Amino acid sequence: MFSLTQFPLQFEENALSPYMSLMTMQYHHGKHLATYIKNLNDLITGTEYEALPLYEIIQKSATEPSAAKIFNNAAQVFNHDFFFRCLTKSTSEEIPQEIKKAFGNNENFFSEFKKAATGLFGSGWVWLIKDADAIKIMTTTNADTPIAHGLKPLLTLDVWEHAYYLDYQNRRADFVDAFLQKLINWKFVKENLNE
Ligand code: MN
Repeated sequence: MFSLTQFPLQFEENALSPYMSLMTMQYHHGKHLATYIKNLNDLITGTEYEALPLYEIIQKSATEPSAAKIFNNAAQVFNHDFFFRCLTKSTSEEIPQEIKKAFGNNENFFSEFKKAATGLFGSGWVWLIKDADAIKIMTTTNADTPIAHGLKPLLTLDVWEHAYYLDYQNRRADFVDAFLQKLINWKFVKENLNE
């Protein structure tokens, strides 16, 4: 039987402290993501989704209103695994030239990403995506994900309150700044660009 298991973190749970604390990682990766995985496994057992890889579960359930619960949990599993891969304790790499070029310079990229992240109402995700040859910022609400729309994700930030409330309370802008300045794994973004 197909059963998805927890994706391991690429770093120690306390590696991103103080920008993302041990307690946030224990709840966010250890509890929230684990719950999405458990829910998804429970929902697909004995269904036509059971044998499909995660990517196909998301694309198939996205077009079936009766599979909304499956979509929400599968998309949240993908989004969270992707998000945790976007993080690193040493953000030493250069921002890829393609991204600088798409936004004119680094500062414009940071300010547009921050504007999208602080302007998103409620729960959702901010993405850097590739749409054909164009590199763009997009936001999705709740569990929605670019891969349900045929778009390629390069980078994401989780702006659900559970992602930052333990460390930043209502100060979402400070969380976004910490992500942009201290936590982005540009090596992973580069790999996504070159894939
Ligand atoms: Mn989350």
